[in-house]
Amino acid sequence: MEEPSHAHSPAGHPDPAGWELWRLPSRAVALVLVVEATAVASVATHLGSPAGAAFTGEALALAAFLTFLSVVHTELATGIERIRRRAAETSYFDLSSVWTFAAALLLPPALAAGVIAAVYLHLWQRVWRPAKVPLHRHLYTTATVVLAAGAAHAAVEQAGGLPATPDDVAGVAGIAVAVLLYVVVNTLLVAGVIALTNEWPGVRALVGRLDDNALEVATLCMGGLAAVVIGSTPWLVALVLPPILVLHRAVLVRQLEEVASTDAKTGLLNSAAWQAEAGRAVRRAQRANGAAAVLILDLDHFKLVNDAHGHLAGDEVLAAVAAQLRAGVRENDFVGRFGGEEFVVLLADLPSGATGRAEVRAVAERLRRLVAELDVPVCTPDGNLTISGLTVSVGGASVPADGTTLDHVLKVADASLYAAKRGGRNLVRIAGPVQIPEPRTAAG
Ligand code: GH3
Ligand code: MG
Ligand code: MG
Repeated sequence: MEEPSHAHSPAGHPDPAGWELWRLPSRAVALVLVVEATAVASVATHLGSPAGAAFTGEALALAAFLTFLSVVHTELATGIERIRRRAAETSYFDLSSVWTFAAALLLPPALAAGVIAAVYLHLWQRVWRPAKVPLHRHLYTTATVVLAAGAAHAAVEQAGGLPATPDDVAGVAGIAVAVLLYVVVNTLLVAGVIALTNEWPGVRALVGRLDDNALEVATLCMGGLAAVVIGSTPWLVALVLPPILVLHRAVLVRQLEEVASTDAKTGLLNSAAWQAEAGRAVRRAQRANGAAAVLILDLDHFKLVNDAHGHLAGDEVLAAVAAQLRAGVRENDFVGRFGGEEFVVLLADLPSGATGRAEVRAVAERLRRLVAELDVPVCTPDGNLTISGLTVSVGGASVPADGTTLDHVLKVADASLYAAKRGGRNLVRIAGPVQIPEPRTAAG
């Protein structure tokens, strides 16, 4: 699974007093400590019971075998990961849960926790420490996996163990429930820390993307199959490695999709991705008899910034403006870089009629002000300085008041932008209803 990104900082401070953990809000720290203590206590409880600590030689050998497979898997996957990291700078998505899940189903919980600890120690050495992930984050992930594995083990135990005969329906259902519990426990515990750390980050940030979760479920299904196979013919588990390595490529495709829709300089949607999202939002507004609006923003006299401070400083200004625009609209609005020093915003799900139009104007004015208030620290050949006094001209148009297709509304907004430029810049112009006759054949 992917490490939760609830904190960003360099890794591994040797002195506990300097740990980044303490910089999280205290409620998040409390959750982290409770989860870690619960994981340790659950292992201790199992070790304390006579049956839980009496490991057979066979179980110990199996634990070593699963750890070995995970190490081989991680080492083989690092090659694929190198390509992926080149494509996107987000973190490594490890599929080690295939082995930790198999361990959860096959081994006594305390021994499975031992496998998880070994697997995560190896991942720490090879992946996360070099990626400068804070140690506390990795420890938390390890604890959530121990608890998720405990839940999965309990589900299979309830079902009477792994399926051993062809008609053991309960055993199969037990594995299905175990997969579900493993995902739910992990997701909830990670989402809990993210929710307690950030301001409301949105449900998608909390539970992760659908295809990430699908990948995790696919990995766990392989883990379930591996567990059943190991129960009968251990070496058949070699057949799990190729599909799991191919699954890594699914992660790669996902990353490439993300890169293909992002403008590298600003992190906003690029023009094509913005048009696709905006087109969907416009069609949704049409279907629901609601409203949406488009704003086009063009920085005023931006050439002067480049001329005075160089293109690199100009790039830093573009990134700062982009962040400011993103911060100035709602989560479900789309902000894109149209090209050069031009940005586009789609305001989705607006109230129809005069209320919606008033909101468009208010948002446009807010964005214009936010840009004007911006101080951008930049490094230039002449040293560090702060660029301020930036201004932006904004043109806006609405669906359905100014047009019914994205293409048409963009044209109207662009005409409004030119009106703002002609009017003296640092201005907002929102189209009056229908300034440009709409073509008969709808485009876009
Ligand atoms: P106006 O108020 O009329 O919009 O004036 P302007 O100078 O902003 O407009 P103009 O179209 O004359 O120039 C746009 C400038 O934006 C010129 C170009 O160098 C700069 N620019 C475009 N893309 C980038 C970029 O990616 N990075 C940097 N640093 N500058 C860029
Ligand atoms: Mg321009
Ligand atoms: Mg400009």
